[in-house]
Amino acid sequence: MNRKVWQASGHEAGFSDPLADCKKCKNRFRPDKLENPKVCPMCGGELTEPRQFNTMMKTFVGPVEGEAGLTYLRPETAQGIFINFKNIIDSFHPKLPFGLAQIGKAFRNEITPGNFIFRTREFEQMEIEYFINGSEWEKWFKYWVNEVKNWLKIIGLDEEKIYFHDIAGSERAHYSKKTIDIEYKFPFGQDELYGLAYRTDFDLKTHSEKSGVDLSYFDSETREKFIPHVIEPSMGVERTLLAILCEAYQEEKERVYLKLPFALAPYKTAVFPLLANKPQLVEKAKEVYKSVKGCFACAWDERGNIGKRYYSQDEIGTPYCITIDFQTLEDETVTIRNRDTMEQERIKINAIISYLAKNLS
Ligand SMILES: [Zn+2]
Repeated sequence: MNRKVWQASGHEAGFSDPLADCKKCKNRFRPDKLENPKVCPMCGGELTEPRQFNTMMKTFVGPVEGEAGLTYLRPETAQGIFINFKNIIDSFHPKLPFGLAQIGKAFRNEITPGNFIFRTREFEQMEIEYFINGSEWEKWFKYWVNEVKNWLKIIGLDEEKIYFHDIAGSERAHYSKKTIDIEYKFPFGQDELYGLAYRTDFDLKTHSEKSGVDLSYFDSETREKFIPHVIEPSMGVERTLLAILCEAYQEEKERVYLKLPFALAPYKTAVFPLLANKPQLVEKAKEVYKSVKGCFACAWDERGNIGKRYYSQDEIGTPYCITIDFQTLEDETVTIRNRDTMEQERIKINAIISYLAKNLS
């Protein structure tokens, strides 16, 4: 790979932040995040004109530090997909449109890491490059706006806290003809959650030019040969997790619980014997636990009293808790408790699986 291309493209591609220095206290700020981009928010001093600061992580590969080993850690996962493009085309012969998805580490030399896991220098990124015929980009861009909205619903984020921010031409990366930032209202303020960009044919074209390898696609129906364009949904794993936790965290008078969408709850259910020192109850509860565990992620707890066990499952967002008590031994019924309403129902043991299947869907 030609390093100079990457250095340049990284810079132009938006992996750089405009920074201004305070002439008095020498602190650095992102003027685009300040109320008044001319004045230091710490001491009131005058700020310099903003300068571009490259956020690519630089390092050296090999035993000797120097130009020959100079390397940049990837600032996005996307390029791995473009590198795999030819392999996929030659092996699977997919027809347009089709998408390739990858997840992996990316690195940026962030000026202001913080807000827990919101901005870190090492992070996990999920990206899809959706390859299309360039003439149809508007249609597929709309399609992906919709898919992102569906995804936000699935992970349980409140629509009222989501903003689709159309990025103006002057602020977009040079290769992008349209970019939407999807922002979420975090407790510390509204900030970027996802990006959706129409990257045109910039990436494949540049890889093709610099490597000398033909990366065009042949449409067997129209007999056309061209370089596909891409729509790219780009998502941070940590930011998603943070938003989900912020959204799900609930405090009530006497308890804290995570109102996770059922699909995201690490345990779907938990089984308890009412009393841990009654072997008959424990034995019966183990039986139930084993049968449920085969179908749903299921926790077992026999510590302390039943109230504490409920609260500890509430804290990790377990939607249903099943308790085996003395009545169970008589009539094969259990209580099943709802995380959100704390209401309990009595149902037959042989109805547990269908009850969970119905209520967790
Ligand atoms: Zn200052």
